[in-house]
Amino acid sequence: MFWPLAAKPYSSLLGHLPSCHPLNLAPHLDADSLAALPRAPGVYIFKGEGKLPIYIGKSVDIRTRVLSHLRAEDEAEMLAQSRRVEFIETAGEIGALLLESHLIKTQHPLYNIRLRRQRNLCSIQLTEEEGAWIPEVVTGQDLGLGKAEGLYGLFGSRHAAQNKLRELADLHNLCQGLLGLEKMSARGCFGLQVKTCLGACVGHEPRGQHDQRLLNALMDLKVHAWPFAGPIDLVEENQGWVQRHRLQDWRYLGTWCSKSDQLEISLQQSFDLDTYKILVRPIMLGTVRIEQINGDLTPINSA
Ligand SMILES: [Zn+2]
Repeated sequence: MFWPLAAKPYSSLLGHLPSCHPLNLAPHLDADSLAALPRAPGVYIFKGEGKLPIYIGKSVDIRTRVLSHLRAEDEAEMLAQSRRVEFIETAGEIGALLLESHLIKTQHPLYNIRLRRQRNLCSIQLTEEEGAWIPEVVTGQDLGLGKAEGLYGLFGSRHAAQNKLRELADLHNLCQGLLGLEKMSARGCFGLQVKTCLGACVGHEPRGQHDQRLLNALMDLKVHAWPFAGPIDLVEENQGWVQRHRLQDWRYLGTWCSKSDQLEISLQQSFDLDTYKILVRPIMLGTVRIEQINGDLTPINSA
């Protein structure tokens, strides 16, 4: 077969980097650039003949991750165009995720799957009217994403948000008429006839009971409002090296690094779905070190 090294144990690849240079999948890859890769968190950048990156990735172990790319047959086309691999170390995993997302969005590498532009994010907003909860698909700048409460799910289109509501209605025996997904006659919704609706639209089921199922169904989709009064630093440290990622309303504003004593500014102006996804779990679960900042965004001071 064309892959002679595959039979060797993986550890032998790690120990003999320069000799693994004649990899069939990446014949032109510079061996020195591979040998320099650290077993540390950060971002790696495959580059071709020119200056532009052709693929950007991140890992908590740059060296191991890059080597696994070299064995990926479905990445042969990208590897054939690669000439060297560069890297940027980070003090931790969140820093690697934020940097990767930032670099992909600003440099548009050829082989990163193009993320669909999420300019017009939609969400499902629940409002209370006369004791009943009414879901409404909302969109646009006035969503107040990152600050607003009562939002559930983030979608690329109004259509996708409505489909999600329909799916939840089916799963939880909700009334599509009351959810605003269909017009109702005096005899109730269509679901009543086919017994997918338990009858909240005609008073057979208490509205409160129906709405409680709706709230439960949406709970997992909750879009968390920024839980702090102002900006924070998310602090990552690795053997004395400190990086402080400044964040506000789920936006990534920049990273201060103790090695350079400089602040790299990102200044993300608007809510970004990828950044939100990177940050929401560690921040809401409290698994990261957070330091609150008093109002002023600059300067970021050393720890
Ligand atoms: Zn109904």
